[in-house]
Amino acid sequence: MSTDLPVLAEFELIDRIRSRLAHRDDVVLGIGDDGAIVQPPAGQQLVIAMDTLNSGVHFPHATPVDAIGWKALAVNLSDLAAMGAQPAWCTLSLSLPQADAAWMDAFLDGFLALARMHDVALIGGDTTRGPLSISVAVHGFVRRDAALRRAAARPGDEVWVSGTLGDAAGALALLGATPLEPAASAPTGDAATLGELQVRLDRPTPRVALGRELAALAHACIDVSDGLLADLAHIACASAVAIEIELSALPASDALRATFDSERVSELQATGGDDYELCFTAPAANAERIAQLAASCDVRLTRIGRVEAGAGVRAVDAAGRVWEPARTGYAHFA
Ligand code: ADP
Ligand code: MG
Repeated sequence: MSTDLPVLAEFELIDRIRSRLAHRDDVVLGIGDDGAIVQPPAGQQLVIAMDTLNSGVHFPHATPVDAIGWKALAVNLSDLAAMGAQPAWCTLSLSLPQADAAWMDAFLDGFLALARMHDVALIGGDTTRGPLSISVAVHGFVRRDAALRRAAARPGDEVWVSGTLGDAAGALALLGATPLEPAASAPTGDAATLGELQVRLDRPTPRVALGRELAALAHACIDVSDGLLADLAHIACASAVAIEIELSALPASDALRATFDSERVSELQATGGDDYELCFTAPAANAERIAQLAASCDVRLTRIGRVEAGAGVRAVDAAGRVWEPARTGYAHFA
């Protein structure tokens, strides 16, 4: 990529990472030995999650390198958020076509900027040569038995979602970046509008503070990565309940509405994925306290449906008719 910066050996790459790390008191031994040593707090449980990003599958090949770094950590922090956990440590496995110093620095710019925001320490990893692929594992804490689980939804719960849905999928559709999402004809939005959608694709915001607060207020929770309906189906299945969603209640950004017609907006919101918003169920009695979290966590919160006895996920339009999408979400190997 760069001609004026050196191509590095594996250990020089690792030193480049190590020289930029922030300190945490509970990291007994960080990068440099065969394993890291950390000290979990007494009385807390560890929540562990791992997600991989493959070039051309999880992000378009042309994604800015700092955005790849940001997103690799963001999607993992989003999983911890969906469990109601407070992030603490992470490990990073990099498969790189070549040991390029400029690439490494740009990647770390994005990755470490988000790590700093959430006081997450990078404590180890692996660096190998191969097609561009990034795996991150994150570790976080939750009070004993307080984690949010997919299996905890109950009939009578209301269903909520944070932020807006469909923006990232909208950006992807415009880019024509995957064979599953053919490029929309001509984008109708202006450059600034398209930029707003693109930011949601490249730099998702993990709802960490919200997830922690929800640990005391919500029943089930999931982060929307594959598509709202597909992800809600996981809650419905794990909890052995039915979930009904009102299409017209789904939150959309002005940028999304300015760019696509209303049918396409619904489709992107309900099935697009890559949103990294939290979708959760909670007793109606907690509605007011949840609504207050919108201000304290600085995120929009919208009630989009309810949990009932039965099985499966159903989306209905404003007239109460059941809406059947062409697909419910993204599936690898589909
Ligand atoms: P080993 O051969 O014992 O697995 P490595 O040479 O792979 O050791 O790694 C040396 C040290 O550098 C270890 O502490 C490892 O965790 C760390 N490390 C390697 N790659 C990365 C990376 N991409 N990010 C963070 N730490 C890394
Ligand atoms: Mg190794």
